[in-house]
Amino acid sequence: MYEDDLTLLRQRNLKVTPQRLQILHYLHTHYTHPDADEIYTALKRTSPSLSRTTVYNALETLKKENIIHAITISAGETRYDARTDTHHHFLCTACKKISDIELICPNIKRVEGGGYCIEEVHGYFKGLCPLCAKKQERKDESKDPT
Ligand SMILES: [Zn+2]
Ligand SMILES: [Zn+2]
Repeated sequence: MYEDDLTLLRQRNLKVTPQRLQILHYLHTHYTHPDADEIYTALKRTSPSLSRTTVYNALETLKKENIIHAITISAGETRYDARTDTHHHFLCTACKKISDIELICPNIKRVEGGGYCIEEVHGYFKGLCPLCAKKQERKDESKDPT
């Protein structure tokens, strides 16, 4: 899955800037679907001169070139993913964590059968992640006197 960041940029004839490399590296080492602010804050620690606009612009460029994917699972929030193969996402409504869900969508063949050419497939699930579901369970148990 991991490809050399430098090669990824060169293949698309993108200018190789340290910022783009930093952002790509961050996303390839953090498959947690961070948002732009999270990436900015993390990189700012080692690159104090980094501007928010640079991060936003770089993300926009990388997204356009399909090097990264933008996920808009919750309204008004964009999260980024360096995995560009087809996979689905689960948003935990409690801790806001987005996890990858490995599923093959059984409907793809039916859609393609209608003459459509599919470029992207997104599946979104929302609910409680295993950790939060357990916490919820414990809370319910403590409420229950039996
Ligand atoms: Zn959770
Ligand atoms: Zn993902």
